[in-house]
Amino acid sequence: MNKAKGFTSQLVHAERLQNLEQGAVHQPAHHSVLFAYKQSQELVDVFQGRSKNHAYARQSTPSVNVLQNTITQLEQAHASLVFSTGMAALTTSMLTLLKAGDHVIFSQFIFGNTNSFAQTLTQYGIEVDFVDITNHPQIKQKIKSNTRMLFCETIANPVTQVADIQHIKTLCTPQNIVLVVDNTMTPSYLFNGKQLGADLLITSLTKYFGGHGNALGGVVVDTGNYNWQNYPNILDTYKNAEPANWAITQIKKKGLRDMGASISSEAIHQLSVGSETMALRLDRSCASALQIAQFLQQHDKISQVYYPGLPSHPQHELAKKQFKHFGAILSFDLIDSIDCLEFINQLNLILCSTHLGDNRTLSIPVAPTIYYEMGLEKRQAMGIREGMIRLSVGIEDCQDIIDDLTQALDYFA
Ligand SMILES: *Cc1c(COP(=O)(O)O)cnc(C)c1O
Repeated sequence: MNKAKGFTSQLVHAERLQNLEQGAVHQPAHHSVLFAYKQSQELVDVFQGRSKNHAYARQSTPSVNVLQNTITQLEQAHASLVFSTGMAALTTSMLTLLKAGDHVIFSQFIFGNTNSFAQTLTQYGIEVDFVDITNHPQIKQKIKSNTRMLFCETIANPVTQVADIQHIKTLCTPQNIVLVVDNTMTPSYLFNGKQLGADLLITSLTKYFGGHGNALGGVVVDTGNYNWQNYPNILDTYKNAEPANWAITQIKKKGLRDMGASISSEAIHQLSVGSETMALRLDRSCASALQIAQFLQQHDKISQVYYPGLPSHPQHELAKKQFKHFGAILSFDLIDSIDCLEFINQLNLILCSTHLGDNRTLSIPVAPTIYYEMGLEKRQAMGIREGMIRLSVGIEDCQDIIDDLTQALDYFA
């Protein structure tokens, strides 16, 4: 479809090359909920899967399809399904592919809401275990005969532990465990999930993909690595199609259609426009993050910096191999005499806000906010210090970010 090889060249031409009307370069935002047909047989064909046309916007629209095709192309994957949020993509995919009696292994270093969702799964009779994802013998030890999925993030926040996807895949393969990777921190520009062995990729499009903090969205990508003939939970109804389509069809029908977390056309448009500069934004933010990490590391009011780009990071070599850049998230601990809330109050340019992957640089004290519900014990198991501050580095001029941190640090004697 698109002969350009470069990431951004492909991306900025992806929509217009999907035969849009009248030479439009952006996919129109289709606002029709319903799709009507002159011949009743045409609607019957949509319902029975013989036609790829649309019936009702909860399940698909032309706008949805174009975004999905673009993402599938970027990930060099088999298929994608977009949702209203990243959490919707994650929860819907897992709920529709798991059933009572199954066992799932979660990395213990995950997004707070994903951790909360893992607890919810236990209420539906799904067994859940947490592991230190950097400890491969421990993962191996937790695998059981009913283990169906292993879930991890590429770079976890806030401590920035890096999962070795290629190695973890080798632990999953003998038992046909589906490797589900949340690559929100390292979207397709930074990381090739398919090549390294991920089976399903979950990405919050709200973050780096859109980048502008103006729209929510999420996606599940079937990389095509997993042979779904080996997966016991595919319903017979969906086995008429090619095995490669079984999982995505089940997620779409049992998940998106029945549970209804559909993305809006406005959000699709905002996210698509935002995504055109994903590589440019990430090049800039990641370069700044490295510079800021180096600046903080040598500062005498900082006791620890967590960033995979620093040679002192435990998975620095792995990160170098696995990602194009080291990401744009870093965390740090202040020396004990400085209160993290007071420090954040001194920042002028850097916003105090939850969210990440935004054009603006954001700071957050993690223990009393996003990891508050988790409790002290679990925070400690995740390596989160009570005074830890997470920075999501934006696209401002790097020196301005460093100047802001400098003046805030200087405020404390
Ligand atoms: C934000 C985030 C999510 C959830 O995405 P939403 O679009 O906010 O629902 C999932 N995983 C990670 C790693 C995230 O940072």
